[in-house]
Amino acid sequence: MIEESIIRQSVASYLAESHISRLDLKAVMFDMDGVLFDSMKYHSASWHETMKHFGMNLPREEAYMHEGRTGASTINIVSRRDRGHEATQEEIEKIYAYKAQLFNQYPEAQPMEGAKELLNKVKASGLIPILVTGSGQKSLLSRLESNFPGIFTPEHAVTSFDVKYGKPDPEPYLMGMKKGGNLSPQNAIVVENAPLGIEAGHKSGCFTIAVNTGPLPDEVLMEAGANLLYPSMEQLNNDWERLLPILQTSMI
Ligand code: CA
Repeated sequence: MIEESIIRQSVASYLAESHISRLDLKAVMFDMDGVLFDSMKYHSASWHETMKHFGMNLPREEAYMHEGRTGASTINIVSRRDRGHEATQEEIEKIYAYKAQLFNQYPEAQPMEGAKELLNKVKASGLIPILVTGSGQKSLLSRLESNFPGIFTPEHAVTSFDVKYGKPDPEPYLMGMKKGGNLSPQNAIVVENAPLGIEAGHKSGCFTIAVNTGPLPDEVLMEAGANLLYPSMEQLNNDWERLLPILQTSMI
């Protein structure tokens, strides 16, 4: 349980830096992999195997540092490093298709503990849940409705098919705010697990909550720009009723 004084301090610092007097929340933007689905172990393994198949090297651990990038961006980083040039569009499609196919051979990623409860609470409190993912993994995107029924509408979802740059660019979160009804940073918060996703949330101007569901140290997530960190989605869910009113308290 995070001490209340730490939460208050974190909100106060955010408001001061953002030159706003209070959060007026209308939406919560959720990343997908590592936040809603416990899928990152399969993504990192399938990225590693895929790059090996195509003669390149992407260690599993490093895959967590690239989490949130578009597939094309990850492929090009490794391709530049290992081959000295970017991949062609045709190669990118082939490599990403291979990766997606490998991912689908792993056991089905389970919904993250506490995610469904938290989404239901967010929705019940009148806030709009918005999906903001760099993923184009259709097998997971198509499972959102069965695992989290009635939560996300296509109008309130940003996926790799909607964005040009992807995380760590703030573009996906800025688009999420636009889709949420031209929201400003004081109207939305971000829930993220990966350093690049946190960086994107931070750059979008929104209060960004990190959930550390992977192998990286907390410091990496805090240094990426997280305002607050929970060790799991379950703990964020358990703390939500206490957290929400503090987030919306005026600091002036
Ligand atoms: Ca993620």
